[in-house]
Amino acid sequence: MALDVPALTALLDGEHAEVRDLVRTNLAAYSSVLEEAERLDTTAYRDRVRDLVVEMAGTGQTGMGFPQEYGGGGDIGASVAAFETLAYGDLSVLVKVGVQFGLFGGAILQLGTRRHHDAYLEDLVAGRLMGCFAMTETGHGSNVQALGTVARYDAATQEFVITTPDDSARKDYIGNAAEHGRLAVVFAQLEVGDRSEGVHAFVVPIRVDGQVAPGVRIEDDGRKMGLNGVDNGRIWFDHVRVPREALLDRFADVTPEGVYESSVDNPNRRFFTMLGTLVQGRVCVGGAGINAAKVALAIATKYAVRRRQFEATSDTEEELLLDYGLHQRRLLPLIARTYALHFAQDVVRTQLHDVFSGVREDEHHRRELEARAAGTKALGTWHATRTIQECREACGGAGYLAVNRFAALKADTDIFTTFEGDNHVLMQLVAKGLLTDYASEFEDLDQLGMVRFVTNLAVETVIERTSAHKLLERVRDLLPGGDQWDQEAGVLDSDYHLAMLRFREEHMLSGVARRLKRGIDQKVNPGKVFSHVQDHVVAAANAHVERLVLEAFVEKVRSMPEGDNRTALAQLCDLFALSTIEADRAWFMEHGRLTVVRSKSISREVGELCRAVRPIAVDLVDAWAVPVEMLRSPDLVG
Ligand SMILES: Cc1cc2nc3c(=O)[nH]c(=O)nc-3n(C[C@H](O)[C@H](O)[C@H](O)COP(=O)(O)OP(=O)(O)OC[C@H]3O[C@@H](n4cnc5c(N)ncnc54)[C@H](O)[C@@H]3O)c2cc1C
Repeated sequence: MALDVPALTALLDGEHAEVRDLVRTNLAAYSSVLEEAERLDTTAYRDRVRDLVVEMAGTGQTGMGFPQEYGGGGDIGASVAAFETLAYGDLSVLVKVGVQFGLFGGAILQLGTRRHHDAYLEDLVAGRLMGCFAMTETGHGSNVQALGTVARYDAATQEFVITTPDDSARKDYIGNAAEHGRLAVVFAQLEVGDRSEGVHAFVVPIRVDGQVAPGVRIEDDGRKMGLNGVDNGRIWFDHVRVPREALLDRFADVTPEGVYESSVDNPNRRFFTMLGTLVQGRVCVGGAGINAAKVALAIATKYAVRRRQFEATSDTEEELLLDYGLHQRRLLPLIARTYALHFAQDVVRTQLHDVFSGVREDEHHRRELEARAAGTKALGTWHATRTIQECREACGGAGYLAVNRFAALKADTDIFTTFEGDNHVLMQLVAKGLLTDYASEFEDLDQLGMVRFVTNLAVETVIERTSAHKLLERVRDLLPGGDQWDQEAGVLDSDYHLAMLRFREEHMLSGVARRLKRGIDQKVNPGKVFSHVQDHVVAAANAHVERLVLEAFVEKVRSMPEGDNRTALAQLCDLFALSTIEADRAWFMEHGRLTVVRSKSISREVGELCRAVRPIAVDLVDAWAVPVEMLRSPDLVG
């Protein structure tokens, strides 16, 4: 088998090849930052990162998602692709770009209206106006609805008064806050008259002429585990007054006289609609995690075809690491999963583009996008953490030296599992979508509401929809063997793999629904019921997202023309599917879908596939086209 690597790169880069190449060129041009990150003190490193972000803004790569009239590129899909590619390089630069253009810029663009766009976007897109996205507080990160910061409307002066009532309501971990931010989009509880209208966003100056603004207090968060080129900080507001127009008013406004108005009546729905517009950040971080994993795998794979250790098959020469079955088992399924996640990310990026470009604007698609973005982000970032660790170990002691990249990769990507939504919290969001089938009530439901909804209304439909009986009917059309499909089908049949993952997903989901219903029928407190089944909920969400990931991979392979590239990706797809089933074989056996004999044959097949993929492993990682300057590791990659 001879892979056509440039053709594979073209397939992976897809419609965004041009912007990805622009980013690759920029990464190579500024590659010295990888070494500077180790050498400069915190202040100098932060300034260097800021300067690079501004320089990159000048090339257009960071503004792809903004309207052209403000100097942007007007292409949301391209902006995500650019961000993903940037993850090959220094991740402080990536995260600073994310804070400035994704979070700060995204909030102004999505939550603001024309007056905010005209006032800020041009300077923001050019990198002249740096800003923060100040949502999280020390007391509340995941539970944004419970934020403590208050924005009280003063009709006499037509201003909002922003206040931090206590230390638990101070803004915390806020990127761009400690040094570079001039403005902050501050999320606060809006109070008008004697009513609280829930969380809204306000544009608040935090620095004027380089000095911290009156009434604002800022503290540096100090050294972090990684990402030390980003200036994270804490912010307190002491009765800071901003004009009425500072409210980002796309979904709600306060009239000069002090009347609250919103196009969305239900407060819960309003809140989730507002947050939903910010989903792009989540899509970006998921894609960045997947690409950071590619850097680690590229280094470890290239090292494994150069590094020899112990004589094994020859008396005269030691064995290459990648010729050991164990090393293949450690790295090659991770390469397969990276490809799978890459294609799943393609799907979610396209969905994001379509929803936000007005191609598919309906509510159902929005909810589906939100759930899919949450799931892909969680799986992509967990994958990064796991893969980078495995690759570091696969490079032995050399993997521990900073020049070989793993120190920064590990430290900088670790937090990807937490910011832009904690992964475990996100997986519960995925399950919520599934259990309610993205019903129109979806956004109105808090956790307790969801339990009630599922138990009162949806449980029958969930169980009906996911009944093993129906699934078997569907499977029967695709696979031989009737009820014995899981015994009769070929182990390398993609329809078999899909049927297995669908069975697991549907079984888990209906199990969750039944358990929720049983708890409620027994009059147990709904919160307690949910808490007891939470591990099951997250497992169901994981099963769902893995099924989506496999589907994306299978569909991609099926769309390819015949040839060696297709054959290679088909093998890789089988490897992903079978290693995924293998990893959960206890569950499949517990639920009667895997005999001992077949389970063993799957493990054997995973080994076979690893051996088949071994000769093309380097081509597979080369196809990601990580610029050689980003790999560094002079002694590892040659
Ligand atoms: C480097 C860095 C940069 C950041 N940048 C920004 C920024 O620019 N702007 C901004 O607004 N924020 C930012 N954040 C904050 C980040 O988004 C939050 O840390 C994140 O949302 C998690 O919130 P938390 O820290 O309060 O964790 P918590 O919500 O307290 O979570 C702690 C643990 O509890 C678990 N948990 C929480 N709720 C549940 C539940 N219902 N069921 C089961 N388990 C649960 C979680 O899974 C997690 O493991 C940043 C953070 C860091 C570290």
